[in-house]
Amino acid sequence: MAPDCARSPKNIMPAVHIKSKLPALPTTIFTTMTQLANQHGAINLGQGFPDFDMDNHLQDLVLKAMRSGNNQYAHTFGNPALRQILSQKIEKIYGNPIQAETEITITPGGTYAISNALTGILREGDEVIVFEPCFDSYIPNIRILGAVPVTIPLNFPDYSIPWDKVKSRITSRTRMILINSPHNPTGTILSESDIESLRSIVAGTEIMILSDEVYEHLIFDKKQHLSILQYPDLFERSYVAFSLGKVFHCTGWKVGYVVAPEYLMKEFRNHHQFNVFSVQSAVQAAMAEYLENEEVYMQLPEVFQAKRDLFLDVMKGSQFQPIPSYGSYFQCFRFPEEVRMSSADYAMFLTREAGVASIPVSAFYGNKEDNRVLRFCFAKKDETLTNAAERLQNATIPIQN
Ligand code: GLN
Repeated sequence: MAPDCARSPKNIMPAVHIKSKLPALPTTIFTTMTQLANQHGAINLGQGFPDFDMDNHLQDLVLKAMRSGNNQYAHTFGNPALRQILSQKIEKIYGNPIQAETEITITPGGTYAISNALTGILREGDEVIVFEPCFDSYIPNIRILGAVPVTIPLNFPDYSIPWDKVKSRITSRTRMILINSPHNPTGTILSESDIESLRSIVAGTEIMILSDEVYEHLIFDKKQHLSILQYPDLFERSYVAFSLGKVFHCTGWKVGYVVAPEYLMKEFRNHHQFNVFSVQSAVQAAMAEYLENEEVYMQLPEVFQAKRDLFLDVMKGSQFQPIPSYGSYFQCFRFPEEVRMSSADYAMFLTREAGVASIPVSAFYGNKEDNRVLRFCFAKKDETLTNAAERLQNATIPIQN
């Protein structure tokens, strides 16, 4: 018999006083929209994850790694063979001879890589320049450290970076600039002129760069991903975050890596070793073998561009106007003025009434700035995209006064 206990969910009173470090923080929009999609049986083009399986060969390699004993703690900084193959890949693609032992750390995903890099560096009162809309973990990650996010809105509707504004927001407390390309949620990418502007702002200062490049290989229209890794003068003051889950269609495996010069990586590792200690061993061993075949990532732009193009095609003639996307999993669309609802309300309305979930881009602004744009994830089976578009084409525009 269960012991007699007067505790029930109804009568739990706080035993101690706590002051929330992140008061009034809502549940992430990804969780909210995924729950709503599940509740209404909607097609989920909200949260960014593929609905198709990863390469069977990669699954076989994980099984093989488990069967051959890769089941105990991996090396704290990551499977040495995986770090080695990643350093070769980086040298080949970006021409940077990264040291596998000291300059790469395998992480449980890109979000962790970003938060751990911030944790290792930021002190109370440090300012971090963040462009909005931005991935929703950045700002809470900065604030919980007592540091200050200095938010700058991207130009609308092309979502380019207003570099003049950036210059005017630099102060003696500016410690870091956080950039993201290919960009979530908008699908924009950095250009050479962005790199030049960034260089002119940070040269000769104490400002560091944190570059979120988790969608590295998902880039379209024959454009090249410009990585901070390929600019030695920028790399020497940077952390660069990547995701293996995102590019190889296994977001649930939560595996990524961070690259930084040794003196910065030391700070990252100090915290990492006492935080997560190490990352799942079988997945790392499998990835090390999988990456030996460069075709597995070289083909990704084509595969994902075909999905973006299909989605744009099947959405033609609908109420939604596309904003160009050159990379990532995402395609943004503006919706008509006649819809007298906020983006957040319209995203929920479409989930319930049309059966397609999206993410309102307003959720990626601290002040919820609303340009009437919805983000759709096209990392889905072709039939999912076609079915979703059919539902969206048929959705009646709710005209309310
Ligand atoms: N990166 C994914 C997106 O933008 C979701 C990540 C998450 O759910 N935390 O949709």
